[in-house]
Amino acid sequence: MNPLLQKFNTAPFSEIKNEHFLPGIKQLIEDTRAEIDAIVENEEAATFTNTTEALENTGLQLDRATSIFFNLNSAETNDEIQKIAQELSPLLSDFSNDLLLNEALFKKVKTVYEAKESYDLTGEQQMLLEKQYKGFSRNGANLSEKDKKTLRKIDSDLSRIKLTFGENVLAETNAYELHLTKEEDLAGLPEGAKESAAQTAEEKGKNGWIITLDYPSYIPFMTYAENRDLRKVLALAFGARSFQKNKNNNEENVLSIANLRHKRAQLLGYKSHAHFVLEERMAETPQKVQSFLNELLKKAKPAAQREFETLESFAKELDAIDQLQKWDGAYYSEKLKQKLFDLDDEKLKPYFKLENVINGVFEVAKKLYGLEFTIDDSIEKYHPDVKTFRVTDYEGTLVAIFYADFHPRAGKRGGAWMTSYKPQQKFHNINDRPHVSIVCNFTKPTASKPSLLTFNEVTTLFHEFGHALHGMLANTTYKSLSGTSVYWDFVELPSQILENWCYEKETLELFATHYETGHVIPMELIEKIKKSSKFHEGMQTLRQLSFGMLDMAWHDSDPSAIKNVKTFENDAFEGTTLYPDVAKNCMSTAFSHIFQGGYSAGYYSYKWAEVLDADAFAYFKQEGIFSKKVADKFKTFVLSQGGTQDPMELYIQFRGQKPNPDALLERAGLL
Ligand SMILES: [Zn+2]
Repeated sequence: MNPLLQKFNTAPFSEIKNEHFLPGIKQLIEDTRAEIDAIVENEEAATFTNTTEALENTGLQLDRATSIFFNLNSAETNDEIQKIAQELSPLLSDFSNDLLLNEALFKKVKTVYEAKESYDLTGEQQMLLEKQYKGFSRNGANLSEKDKKTLRKIDSDLSRIKLTFGENVLAETNAYELHLTKEEDLAGLPEGAKESAAQTAEEKGKNGWIITLDYPSYIPFMTYAENRDLRKVLALAFGARSFQKNKNNNEENVLSIANLRHKRAQLLGYKSHAHFVLEERMAETPQKVQSFLNELLKKAKPAAQREFETLESFAKELDAIDQLQKWDGAYYSEKLKQKLFDLDDEKLKPYFKLENVINGVFEVAKKLYGLEFTIDDSIEKYHPDVKTFRVTDYEGTLVAIFYADFHPRAGKRGGAWMTSYKPQQKFHNINDRPHVSIVCNFTKPTASKPSLLTFNEVTTLFHEFGHALHGMLANTTYKSLSGTSVYWDFVELPSQILENWCYEKETLELFATHYETGHVIPMELIEKIKKSSKFHEGMQTLRQLSFGMLDMAWHDSDPSAIKNVKTFENDAFEGTTLYPDVAKNCMSTAFSHIFQGGYSAGYYSYKWAEVLDADAFAYFKQEGIFSKKVADKFKTFVLSQGGTQDPMELYIQFRGQKPNPDALLERAGLL
């Protein structure tokens, strides 16, 4: 008996063996195909119920099985699971392509969509219909046979060139090493960074130390290495990735990707790729994104210039540097920060014992939303380290099941994320509660010390827990609009807003007590944390804005006339740069976020989400950070609503007004 094919509530980890995945999921794909066929073959006229809602409710068991599989592949994987993933992924993408290309099914979906005025639909039902229809139309379902063929060709070219783009950046990153044989060349580096540089050398069968262009090696060297010439060598190598005259050059690929995206958008009836992307974003249009970026630029630039000048005179005073260059920024910033704040992780960590921080975040959830977290070991775990909780409201009603998995293991990928094992939905009149999980890679306890978190890990925990609250408090009818299923530039609001509580005295006093003495974190340290979080915000904002502007420049108009990548890039960066340009370096040729990953016409969303969270938190600050009134509104209009309404409308219902960027500028100390 394959447990994946049986009905279950919490995931039955103890019964699921690796050999169940492939046959189980294959079977469930076939079952779902049969459910879809039944919708198509229904001879009655297409209606919201027999088409839109019916389609929404297909594949429920398939979703449960695949979420278990892919969650394990991220958090507790091994060679066998990875091999299964290799086999499963094409099956699932074939299945989803077949669905989107199913003409008979689309005909029915379109019939309902076009008759939407004649049904008496709730707002949520309209959103579901819209989302479903757009899922097909944005994939070419409305095109003629000839245009559909063109679209498939563009899509396959795009995926091939994007892959090549990424491979080239990787090849250039891996091809480079800075091999050092004199210890004095590493002066300034922390012990940990030195050790890993020695280890890298050893792995490559060499003496001494090797610095690479991978972030964990590159960033510490640029931040701490005293040798300016070596910092320059390394920075130039980093900035020249895929911009050198060799087989890994990405200039042609950048132009091809931009042009193919534009052609694709035009074929589908959009003015540009950015218009296509932003149709399903809170920001809505390229014009709105541009004025958003420009407004922030106008306000952040004077602060950035002031910070730059201060940094320049600091470097001059310290080392007689005349012209601050790109390879100096991180180094002198760190030196100045140390001088101003004298704050390091080792001083803070004793106040952030993991268990205390977890209790702290639970206490915050209780004060804001009346949630109670109770350990329940009867819930099966996929690894003994995982903690399982029943989450209830003040009446004792089950709100969610919560899994928390904190420490690194061999089979876990890096970073921190929130995911789910079961979506929230109202099905057959039952409000089915979600099973939500957060996975992190925090410092492990040792024989002599408990797990003590860095402040960065504390904010990470609050961040992921904010996503988890979005999942846990979901209260919608349809699973595809539930919880975190919202527009991309809205999804970071619940997570980022929760980070704000970490900087507040009222919150820190709840849980930040010294693990040995029991003393509450001193006010002086809290002030330092706050002040240092604003350090060089102007320059950092300018940098983020410049990337957002470069991204929009590539995607919001016809790129066919662009001949030179570097010239185009320099034009896009106009007005956002502080350091002298380096002719041999190029950002676009290694900007994997937008040319390989999914951030095209979306890089602005980092700042967008910050504006939302700062403005939303300003409301809490105004009424008290544990204000019941504001928390209730946030829960009612944001956390519980998922994607059932336009996010700007939801936000206005919560806040009473549109988000105001001044809150972010004020928090960052830029006003
Ligand atoms: Zn996030």
